[in-house]
Amino acid sequence: MPHIVILGAGFAGVWAAAAAARVRDGADLDITLVAPDDELVLRPRMYEAEPDRATVPLAGLLKPIDVRHRRAWAERIDVERREVHAGGDVLGYDRLVLATGSRLVRPELPGAGLLFDVDTLRGARRLADHLRGREGFTAVVVGAGFTGLEVATELAGRGRVVLVERADVVGPDLGPTPRPSIEDALDRLGIEVRLRTSLHAVEPGAAVLSDGTRVAADAVIWTAGMRADALTEQVPARRDRLGRLAVDRWMRVEEPSGAVFAAGDVAAARFDDSHDVMQSCQHATPMGKTAGHNAAADLLGLEPIDFAPAPYVTCLDLGAAGGLYTKGWDRQVALSGERGKEVKQWIMRRIQPPVDDAEQLLALAGMVRLPIPF
Ligand SMILES: Cc1cc2nc3c(=O)[nH]c(=O)nc-3n(C[C@H](O)[C@H](O)[C@H](O)COP(=O)(O)OP(=O)(O)OC[C@H]3O[C@@H](n4cnc5c(N)ncnc54)[C@H](O)[C@@H]3O)c2cc1C
Repeated sequence: MPHIVILGAGFAGVWAAAAAARVRDGADLDITLVAPDDELVLRPRMYEAEPDRATVPLAGLLKPIDVRHRRAWAERIDVERREVHAGGDVLGYDRLVLATGSRLVRPELPGAGLLFDVDTLRGARRLADHLRGREGFTAVVVGAGFTGLEVATELAGRGRVVLVERADVVGPDLGPTPRPSIEDALDRLGIEVRLRTSLHAVEPGAAVLSDGTRVAADAVIWTAGMRADALTEQVPARRDRLGRLAVDRWMRVEEPSGAVFAAGDVAAARFDDSHDVMQSCQHATPMGKTAGHNAAADLLGLEPIDFAPAPYVTCLDLGAAGGLYTKGWDRQVALSGERGKEVKQWIMRRIQPPVDDAEQLLALAGMVRLPIPF
C-alpha cells in the first residue's frame, strides 16, 4: 500500500495529515506522522502565564482520522532510498511531508545557559514555573520583535520589565505603521525600553548589557531569531537565509526525486509576487493542508491544488494594553485596544483543531483559505 510519512506534529504536520486523510476517502493509503511528543503544541500561545493550557492531545486528532502516530524524533532522511530513520526504525515512504518547524537561534555569550525562552513547551514551562508566585520580579526581555513584545507586555502586569532591542526602534520587522500604537502600549504598561542595546552576558540574578549596565533580574528571556529545523539540510534543494526549503505552489520541494513536500516553518513558499510566507501559524496551516492534499493526490492520481492563503494579517497581544490587529503587508492598524484583543483571542481559539471530531477536522482540512471576518 502507498505510504505517506509526515515529519512533525505542529500546525503544518497535523493539517497535512488531516488533508491527506481527507483525500484518501477510503482508498488504500497509509499515513504515518512521526513526532516525539503526544501533543500538538500551540506555539503562538507559549508567552502565556500557563503554557500547559495551550496543547492539544494528538491522539484526539490522529486516531479519529486513522493516521498512525510514530512517537520518535526523525534523525535522518534518505531522499534517494525514500527512507526516514526515526527512533531506531527505518520507515519507507512514497511521499514525504517535512514539517519539523523552526527553532529559536540561541546566542553564544557568557552565561547563555541561564537564558529563558518561550520557544517550546519545555522552555515556556520552565519560565512559568520560575516566575509563578514571585512577587515584584524583574524580567529582562531581549528582542522587541513579535515574540518579545508579547512576552514583555504579558509580564508587565506582574513585575518590572526591561525590554532590550539592538535596533533603534521597537518592532523593527513590523514596519513603521503599527509602531506608534506599540510604543504607546509599552509606555502605558511602564515597560523600560533600551534601544540600540544588546545582551552581553547573563549572570545568576543579572543581565549585563552592551552599554555596560548590569540589570538585576530574576529572569532574562531571549526571543530574537528563528531558523528552520536542521533536517532541511538533508534534502538536496535550495534553501533561503532562514534555512527554509524552496517549494513550488503545490508545496513540492524542488529536488530530483519529486517525492518530498515541505510545509510550515521549514518551507519558503511564495505568498504572492512580492512576498514569501512568514514563519507563522497563519501560513503553516494552509501550507500543511496544501502539502497533505497534494502528497495524497499525487499517489492516487488526483488533481493537485494550489497554495492559496487568505490575505496577510497580524495580531499582537499587548497584555493589559489590549491587542493590535493589522491588515496587509504594510500592517495598517485595523483594530487596537480591547477590540484588537478580542480578535487575538478569537484567532487563538480558532488555531486549535477540533478534538475527537473526524468530520469537522476533515471538513476544515479541505478549506485552505480561511479568512478572518474582521
Ligand atoms: C512565542 C511565539 C509566538 C508566536 N506567535 C504567533 C502568532 O501570533 N501568529 C502566528 O501566525 N505565528 C506565531 N508564531 C509562530 C508559529 O508558532 C510558528 O510559525 C508555527 O508554530 C510553525 O508551525 P510548524 O508546524 O511549521 O512548526 P512547529 O509548530 O514548530 O512544529 C514542529 C513540529 O515538529 C516536531 N519535530 C521537530 N523536529 C522533529 C524531528 N526531528 N522529528 C520529528 N518531529 C520533529 C516538533 O516536535 C513539532 O511537533 C509564534 C511563535 C512563538 C514561539
